[in-house]
Amino acid sequence: MQEYYLGLDLGGTKILTGLADKNGKILARSRKDTEAKLGEEKIIANMVASIEEVLAKKNLQAEDIIALGIGSPGPLDAKKGIIIENSNLPWKNVPIVEKIEAAVGIKTLLKNDANAAALGEKWFGAGKEVDNMVYITISTGVGGGAIIKQELFSGVNDNACEIGHTVVDPDGPLCGCGNHGCLESFASGTAIARMAQEAAAEGKSKKMLDLADNIVEDVDAAICAQAAYQGDQTAKAIFAEAAFYLGIGLANLVNIFNTEMIILGGGVMKSADLFLDKAIATMRDNALPGPLEIVELREAELGSDIGLMGAIAVAMEDRLIKNG
Ligand SMILES: [Zn+2]
Repeated sequence: MQEYYLGLDLGGTKILTGLADKNGKILARSRKDTEAKLGEEKIIANMVASIEEVLAKKNLQAEDIIALGIGSPGPLDAKKGIIIENSNLPWKNVPIVEKIEAAVGIKTLLKNDANAAALGEKWFGAGKEVDNMVYITISTGVGGGAIIKQELFSGVNDNACEIGHTVVDPDGPLCGCGNHGCLESFASGTAIARMAQEAAAEGKSKKMLDLADNIVEDVDAAICAQAAYQGDQTAKAIFAEAAFYLGIGLANLVNIFNTEMIILGGGVMKSADLFLDKAIATMRDNALPGPLEIVELREAELGSDIGLMGAIAVAMEDRLIKNG
């Protein structure tokens, strides 16, 4: 009998669901708007509709599916299946696993999106050949997931590897978590946008303002990157600053986890040539020689499918470890 798995990538604007075979090959997909503003019941209804659509595409029933994996922004309690809070979705303490299982009748597993992405890269992406790796995503925020001896290291209550909220400068900018100088407050898309807007408002970059039609609030990380590619020194300096702190964060990961590989993903990596060399040089200056000697840095391979493949890996984790 064919083995089928489902993955659902729950985002603030869209819900992606994929049906995969036992090798993780995607056989069918569905994409629905999250419609987060319409509230909890509507979001769950859209998730259910997305699952049903993908099953219908292959004429499958709930009983044909071994498990459904959900990747969601956190914080969440993966073991209890509860999404605790979410800055993009208007809900609190939602027992999402219970609700989805009741609605569709498929065994459901939940992980935070960065942890899910780490599993995706381990089993289907750049980490296939190694047993120990750390995945770090540099996008709106900075998140991560560590795989130790092929298994996700979740921590006691699913908060392990919150690399974005490790402090790299206690005198640094205020972070969304309430602390100052977290890695995320220097090296995320949000942080780059903040630094770029400050520079634009202070008249330090005419190029960035031009690219944003003179609207300071419209200056974002993508515009900063575009300006840097066009030679704007201020924009380049912003990426250099982000790179320095990213390098410190990477050195911390090297020293703490001593893995064979660190994989970098997330939207900001599209501009990797603006910051990655400096980040790696800073990492080399700050990490210990022992763990540094064996670690390899790789770019994530799953691209825009990482959320979906991560969720599928969450559904398949038991099988993958057994057959590794
Ligand atoms: Zn923080």
